[in-house]
Amino acid sequence: MLQKELKKTPILNFAQLAKMEKYGKLPKGFIIHHKVPLFRGGDNSFSNFRVMNSKFHQKYNKRLHWYDDGKNIYEK
Ligand SMILES: [Zn+2]
Repeated sequence: MLQKELKKTPILNFAQLAKMEKYGKLPKGFIIHHKVPLFRGGDNSFSNFRVMNSKFHQKYNKRLHWYDDGKNIYEK
């Protein structure tokens, strides 16, 4: 399950969050993923953003973006 893998990936710690707030930049190794990709009709609203470990994003690129209809990991 992709959700299980996602839970095991590194997340931002408090120091990184504080730096992010101060400098307005994501720490190295993290990216913004669109829960619903732009090419699938997603938008740039904050509710569609997820901070994600970039290695996880790269490794599971296909499953995060090219999933079958109705199989987005954020859909319930
Ligand atoms: Zn993405």
